[in-house]
Amino acid sequence: MKVAIIGGGLAGLTAAAYLSEQSGVTGVLFERSPQLGGRAFTYEKAGFTLNYGAHAIYGLDRHTLSVMERELKLDFSSKQVDKRKVVYEKGEHLTPAPLDFVNLIKTDLLTAMQKVRFVGEITAIMANIHQIKHYATLGDYLAESGAAEDVKELWEHLVCSNFFITPEDARRVPGPVISDYYHNLFLSHRPVNYVLGSWAVITNQLRDKVNLSERWSIALQEGVDGIRYEQGKYVLKTKAREETFDRVIFAMPIQQVVKLLRGTPWEPFLEPYEHNTATEVMVYDIGLDHVVARPFSYISDMNHKLFISDVSATDHTLVPEGGQLLQGIAYLSEESSSDEDRKAYLEERTQQMESLFDRHYPNWRDAVAVKRVSKKAMVQSVKNIASNRLVPNRIESMPFYFCGDGCEGKGELAERAFSSGRRVAERLVEELLHV
Ligand SMILES: Cc1cc2nc3c(=O)[nH]c(=O)nc-3n(C[C@H](O)[C@H](O)[C@H](O)COP(=O)(O)OP(=O)(O)OC[C@H]3O[C@@H](n4cnc5c(N)ncnc54)[C@H](O)[C@@H]3O)c2cc1C
Repeated sequence: MKVAIIGGGLAGLTAAAYLSEQSGVTGVLFERSPQLGGRAFTYEKAGFTLNYGAHAIYGLDRHTLSVMERELKLDFSSKQVDKRKVVYEKGEHLTPAPLDFVNLIKTDLLTAMQKVRFVGEITAIMANIHQIKHYATLGDYLAESGAAEDVKELWEHLVCSNFFITPEDARRVPGPVISDYYHNLFLSHRPVNYVLGSWAVITNQLRDKVNLSERWSIALQEGVDGIRYEQGKYVLKTKAREETFDRVIFAMPIQQVVKLLRGTPWEPFLEPYEHNTATEVMVYDIGLDHVVARPFSYISDMNHKLFISDVSATDHTLVPEGGQLLQGIAYLSEESSSDEDRKAYLEERTQQMESLFDRHYPNWRDAVAVKRVSKKAMVQSVKNIASNRLVPNRIESMPFYFCGDGCEGKGELAERAFSSGRRVAERLVEELLHV
């Protein structure tokens, strides 16, 4: 069986690595950029390793990456973010983020009674008996929960931080999604970690695995710009060639699949997914030539819904000797009535971010060696809220497979890309066994 995978991000590389182990499968991985990795692309500048998307892994011991580590024999190291140095800023006050029982006891965000209530909620989630899974959204649950405003705010803020979304969107996350996600995270012994050396450590190994299997090739700078069905096979067209395949896996954001299949007989089947919205954030990365301050490894500004990670406090491999790498992220709302309003909104977010840097990293502006600001970075191609529909790995009446962080799978963000890539490879192999 000859398979085409379109997209060389985490999902496409994962699917290709698994399929490359199958002796009955040959294939080509098409990537339109000059490099692999997609949104997990890593690059070097002035001695700093910068990630387009951050490389934090939530709940590593229960994460799909740990399964892949065993199954694909990946070799990587990771380091846990120091939980005692994760703080929330509320008003002008700093307090430990209630990530575990020790921090929960210390935090000022809740009163003693509210802490008892919150511990009860965590315990119920861990035991998988929390009522939230029966509610359409987090907002619906909170409205009926009778919880104090501070407990509600804490729930919303947790969801903002893990899903990279605003409080309004947090309230729209489906109850079962919250229940599953936090069941895993609260049971994890390794809640927040970095893969040492960035995503490239993973993507390079997946690439090498594909290349080592001589049945597969990787076509870089070869975007697929057309696809048609002919005599029981799929003909893919790029600028360089036309080639025929038995099966096709789409490993790219659904917004791009919709564009690629416009005008083909398959277009109508994508209609339910066409209006999905993506999770977008503002990213403000700065590489500093020396450590200006190291008060914590992560600070989340609850007032303005943005955070700064001192990435190099956990992963020192990313900076030149003595340097510091800080990554600021601001969650963004979707709506703006005009381009002008949007511009003003983004400007306001930039100023809020810079003032968070000013408050905790004095004189940072004088130490900047590299800076990268992106006002519209796609964190997840389909925001996991009630009004969106994640893309199934197979869509009824369509002959293709779909994977990526907007598709059905386990977890959120990169884990959804890894898990859906693994799942489509598994389903394709099952299909092969039954052909
Ligand atoms: C700022 C930011 C911070 C993040 N932080 C985290 C984090 O801390 N933890 C975490 O787990 N995740 C994080 N993420 C999310 C993570 O980076 C993504 O979930 C993941 O990289 C998505 O991978 P993917 O393979 O689904 O999609 P993509 O990376 O988008 O891959 C799709 C690929 O398809 C290619 N392509 C598209 N069209 C074509 C075509 N026609 N022909 C050929 N190729 C094509 C694209 O060039 C791309 O390489 C973050 C993302 C961002 C942007």
